[in-house]
Amino acid sequence: MEPLSHAFKERSVWALQDETLQVALNRAKDGFAVKRAKAVDALPEFESLRDRAVAIKDHTLENLDHYLERYAEAVERSGGKVHWASSAEDARRIVVEICRASGARMITKGKSMVGEEVGVNGALEEAGFEVVETDLGEYIIQLAQEPPSHIIVPAVHKTRGQISDLFHQNHQKYGLTRKLSEVPEMVNEARQVLRDKYLAADVGITGANFLIAESGTSVIVTNEGNGDLTCSLPKVHIVTAGIEKVVPTADDASTLLRLLGRSATGQDMTTYTTFTTGPKRSGDTDGPEEYHVVLIDNGRTSMLGDQFREMLRCIRCGACMNHCPVYGAIGGHAYGWVYPGPMGSVLTPLAVGLKEAGNLPNACTLNGHCAEVCPVRIPLPDLLRTLRHREYQLRLGLKPMRWGLAAWLWFTTHPRIYRMGTRVQARMLALLAGRKGRFRRMPLAGSWFRGGRDLPAPQGETFMAVWQRRQRGKGG
Ligand code: SF4
Repeated sequence: MEPLSHAFKERSVWALQDETLQVALNRAKDGFAVKRAKAVDALPEFESLRDRAVAIKDHTLENLDHYLERYAEAVERSGGKVHWASSAEDARRIVVEICRASGARMITKGKSMVGEEVGVNGALEEAGFEVVETDLGEYIIQLAQEPPSHIIVPAVHKTRGQISDLFHQNHQKYGLTRKLSEVPEMVNEARQVLRDKYLAADVGITGANFLIAESGTSVIVTNEGNGDLTCSLPKVHIVTAGIEKVVPTADDASTLLRLLGRSATGQDMTTYTTFTTGPKRSGDTDGPEEYHVVLIDNGRTSMLGDQFREMLRCIRCGACMNHCPVYGAIGGHAYGWVYPGPMGSVLTPLAVGLKEAGNLPNACTLNGHCAEVCPVRIPLPDLLRTLRHREYQLRLGLKPMRWGLAAWLWFTTHPRIYRMGTRVQARMLALLAGRKGRFRRMPLAGSWFRGGRDLPAPQGETFMAVWQRRQRGKGG
């Protein structure tokens, strides 16, 4: 993979200049936030549900070995098989081996972020299988040969015109030669293509939103029903899931489900919630003959033991990115790995290393909006700050930045000099900016002004000076 730290800046500049991407991002930007706000307002117990969710996740993480064992026993009792994958390579190998052993040729897949994380599609294609994504967004980006740019809406960066072009180029081989432009027509056409794939598939692979330990059940949520068809039509069903997805009971899963839909898309519940437990039993009219679960660690247990443990509460709702101004400006591909936005800026450096991804925790305004909306109260800004601190301690940042931080540290630990310095600086900058009140260039800050961005000048007084003046006024 290209080193992320270099690529992030380049990709961000590219994203800001890509007019089509900006149209797509602007269209999506407020929709999610408004829908979430309405759904939250309509549920008086939303905050107490969040508290319960945090308690459920924390309790499970503290006893993760116990609940994983209970889950694995329950899966085996129901006739399924559990495979443990400690790394991405393990996960890819296991999935390929199951598909080979079943004599499969065609594989359908439901949306799975952990599948993206470990690179399941690439491994299967390399092994000679035909893999078809069945979630509409994933199907679109598979045709475009691109990674997802959002964890809930993988093709959010695509405009209707781009999707129309993609379908026209790729569906002609099925005899579908008319170029379509209306969304319902395009959805119908995709449905037509996918129907044959479902019927031909030998293996169906899904992710899991939750794994219920007491019953060995896997839960997935979709809005298109593609998950149900992927689980139940092929003769083999493979569930790929991170080990942090396990929860003790169905009751716990339902608490988290009530938060997931509202936080992700503003829905009380997603249109389909599918529970699968083991293979088809005698008397069942449909269902797979084989049921496999691949439980993937890939760095999660090392997170359990450090300051980033809270990140394992994440239920992949996407609310943090839907409310992030940085994500809203540059979209998901600029982040360079599977997980974008605030949660990705924490997870990516942990997965690929700070040396590669140190720019991500720094590309944050620390406005705190992500933590406010996170249904499981992950303190994302604090975790990003911890990563910045770690980067500084490891001397990984650029030298000018390290020097600047060292100077800042010296000033802030000498409050008198700091106050005097900021007072003089605020006055000087206000004078220099003149009546325009903005700067168009400044030494050592070239990249800020690139692309026509300006910088408002200070108003001539520091915050502390204004505060003290107001307090004196109140006293008088
Ligand atoms: S960090 Fe929180 S808001 Fe972001 S995806 Fe995870 S659960 Fe959702």
